[in-house]
Amino acid sequence: MSSDATPSSSLDTSLKFDAIDLVGRTGSHRSVERTVPAPGREAGGVAMQVPEGQDIAVEAELESVVEGIYVHGTVTAHLEGECSRCLDPVDQDVSARLDELFMYPEKVKAEDREDSVLFEDDYVNVGPLVRDALAMEADERPLCREDCPGLCSQCGFRMEDDPDHAHDIIDPRFAALQGLLDDETKNEEA
Ligand SMILES: [Zn+2]
Ligand SMILES: [Zn+2]
Repeated sequence: MSSDATPSSSLDTSLKFDAIDLVGRTGSHRSVERTVPAPGREAGGVAMQVPEGQDIAVEAELESVVEGIYVHGTVTAHLEGECSRCLDPVDQDVSARLDELFMYPEKVKAEDREDSVLFEDDYVNVGPLVRDALAMEADERPLCREDCPGLCSQCGFRMEDDPDHAHDIIDPRFAALQGLLDDETKNEEA
């Protein structure tokens, strides 16, 4: 089985930084900058994502510390998605912090391996950090604007196009009650 086919894999390969020159040289550091194309939407991922091919820009400092290579910096990108109420397109500019210590494997106790990010093959792989950082900053329930009226709950009409849009049942309390009754009928039938 190969993980190369997953959409996220290209970020994992395109954001690896060679850090062999820093190994064992505690106190030395180097800045890196790289802009890579987004790999495309992750199915089942967060609502706001970087559209495929658009820039993901990373600026980071690689720092040699006793335990490994410490990476800190920022990732900036432009996210797109849709309004959680009316499905109109929504975008969001984000600048997220990156902060991770890639531990030298020999500094990590065997039982802690699973929970540690290891410095392996002379590279720090910033791809997974970038993905997590962008997901953290992304709006969970994006809105085209704070007071977006959304869609009619009964027919899906865009309420913004006609705020007076309504159905026969206009009293929301009655509508809710009607809904309850419908549910009960269904339950009885089941
Ligand atoms: Zn909206
Ligand atoms: Zn309607």
